Amino acid sequence: MERLLIEGGTVLTMAGPEAVYADGAVLVEDGRIVYAGPRRGAPEVKGARRLDATGQIVMPGIVNTHCHAAMTLLRGYADDMRLMEWLQTKIWPAEAKMTAEDVYWGTALAAYEMLSGGITTFLDMYFPADPVARAIQDTGIRGIVARGIIAVGGPSEALSRLEESREAFHRWNGKANGRITFMVGPHAPYTCPPDTLVACAELADELGIGIHIHLSETAGEVEEARRQWGKTPIRHVYDLGLMRGRHVVAAHCVHATDDDIAILAETGTGVCHCPVSNLKLASGRTPVSKMRRQGVAVGFGTDGASSENMLHILGSEMRIGAIQAKELEGDPAVFTAYDAVSMATIEAARVLGMDAEIGSLEPGKRADIVLIDTERPHLTPNHDLYGLIAYSALPSDVTTTIVDGQIVYERGRLMRMDGREIMARAREAAARIVKP
Ligand SMILES: [Zn+2]
Repeated sequence: MERLLIEGGTVLTMAGPEAVYADGAVLVEDGRIVYAGPRRGAPEVKGARRLDATGQIVMPGIVNTHCHAAMTLLRGYADDMRLMEWLQTKIWPAEAKMTAEDVYWGTALAAYEMLSGGITTFLDMYFPADPVARAIQDTGIRGIVARGIIAVGGPSEALSRLEESREAFHRWNGKANGRITFMVGPHAPYTCPPDTLVACAELADELGIGIHIHLSETAGEVEEARRQWGKTPIRHVYDLGLMRGRHVVAAHCVHATDDDIAILAETGTGVCHCPVSNLKLASGRTPVSKMRRQGVAVGFGTDGASSENMLHILGSEMRIGAIQAKELEGDPAVFTAYDAVSMATIEAARVLGMDAEIGSLEPGKRADIVLIDTERPHLTPNHDLYGLIAYSALPSDVTTTIVDGQIVYERGRLMRMDGREIMARAREAAARIVKP
């Protein structure tokens, strides 16, 4: 049996606001947590590898609910543009030149970056699925692969992409000790006609998996949906039956109406909140506290690196998202530091339907754990641990990232691949795909 004992740090379990242990310990056996609590209560173990966490916070791995990982290759390529112009003149032409190998290196770069900032799980919507799954396998991160399905080219385009999703699922689902799982990924109602959305729901049922989709990201999208179907995008997919009987993870929902929020709550649809992407693209402000008050699970997501520019929740989505939630309702008490940390961990796991397995440090769960060094000027002193994480911590404060009980990132080093090679390959691919 493989045992890892993390001891001496402040263990923050996210099993509730009070579940914090100043001199704590976490014991991991064969990739699962068997103990998380005060050090003096930890079971006696022989032959365990020991990790000294003195001076550090030991917390659950951060969960990124929405990403287009390989878009790291387009980071900084076309900033400061309007969404549709940006997609049509810059992003789609560059993506058309991306090979499967490019997607592999772009995803590996994203995984490296995410692990360096304490993200242990991400939900990815990109294409093709194979290199994404391979990069998850090789880097050691945990990932959900949703092959992006766009059907603007007609029904045959949709069919071939659904078939590719099915094949990739059978090839990869549950591989890498269960680190790789799948969802069906219809891009959005404005890129998938109703029959494609229904076909996606059928495939999700056939494979027994959920659906990941973008909904109500911009005011223009909602306006167009009202013109075309006489209703909002959320009401539209609900009426098509997409949200009943299966788990749906909806990215953005910036322009969700009260009726939309009631639908999200009724159907248990999880929402990915990407405040930085939404702000940078001037898409609007998501009614995040309103959604959560109605019982909707909301988790932070980074979106792709060509809209957010960095794939970090710590110091980025968490901090800006919390500040924005306060500003939106004109009340600093409406959204707390604990809310922010929850939306980065256990609530984000609930969004993905994975809270039985990840999101908190509790016995029986997979050992996805992050260590944060608090011996830093901007983390001194420590009056409130949640405030420290939500408002002060930076991705570079992460020293160690553990996925499935394995140390996959430690003090600047990706453990399973050569980080410098990943960056070199990504630079090469990036230069080629943007060449006119
Ligand atoms: Zn997106």
